[in-house]
Amino acid sequence: MSDKFGFLIDMDGVLYRGPELLPGAGEFVRQLRERDIPFRFLTNNSQRTRRDVVAKLSRMGIDVEEQHVFTSAMATARFLAQQKPDGTAFVIGEGGLLTALHQNGYAVVDHDPDYVVVGEGRTFNLELVETATRMVHNGAMLIATNLDPNCPTQNGGVRPGCGAMVAMLELATGVKAFSVGKPSPVMMRAARKELGLSTDETTMIGDTMETDIVGGVQLGFHTVLVLSGGTRRDDLVKYAYRPEVVVENLAEFGERMARNDWRPPRSYDGFEDRELATAQASGGW
Ligand SMILES: [Mg+2]
Repeated sequence: MSDKFGFLIDMDGVLYRGPELLPGAGEFVRQLRERDIPFRFLTNNSQRTRRDVVAKLSRMGIDVEEQHVFTSAMATARFLAQQKPDGTAFVIGEGGLLTALHQNGYAVVDHDPDYVVVGEGRTFNLELVETATRMVHNGAMLIATNLDPNCPTQNGGVRPGCGAMVAMLELATGVKAFSVGKPSPVMMRAARKELGLSTDETTMIGDTMETDIVGGVQLGFHTVLVLSGGTRRDDLVKYAYRPEVVVENLAEFGERMARNDWRPPRSYDGFEDRELATAQASGGW
């Protein structure tokens, strides 16, 4: 096995929550850059372009370049360009998705599209749903950038996510959407290829079991769950799959990596994880 390794890092609940940077996030990313460890930020949020994400992170004190960002909007646009080059799409979504589609040779239209593509955003309304329903009924394919049921908001609440809007269209049309974002292997694999690493050299760090962790498990990546987002330690017993490492936040994971001389993921075996063992024992694993 090679000594190479790198990280796919979810953003919301891992790097920040609302407007606040989470503990250890800035330092962890600095260490990765200093040590030339490859990484990509992997987000299901299709609202923002790469440039928007870089600007948001920069305001929070995390300095990265556009190449470090991989969104479900990009994954979706690349996927469609492979499936049907120079196609057309009717879009319910925002700038990140529109930009990605344009960059991949797609025309955004409001009549007779090849695909109806749904991302999150605030543009959603009943008129768009009606138009999209008619298009799918007439043969357009239904594509979801992701199926996240809800998204965290600035003030610590939640709002309906892309999955909720897609569910409405699915029910209205009787057609099941094809989703590209995490945990779909389409996005997980494309992100891993961006790193230029093999599955065994890739570690997914995330806060959501249903996307980050299950996606990583299915692809054969190493997996790290941080508890700084939407998952509590008590939740773990409900899942038939588990992450290799569970930490409170990136600060704790960074400390563990430092204690391990930032050696590649095979050394996760040596990571002490008493809390997870305890949680599993009490949950009847
Ligand atoms: Mg997250």
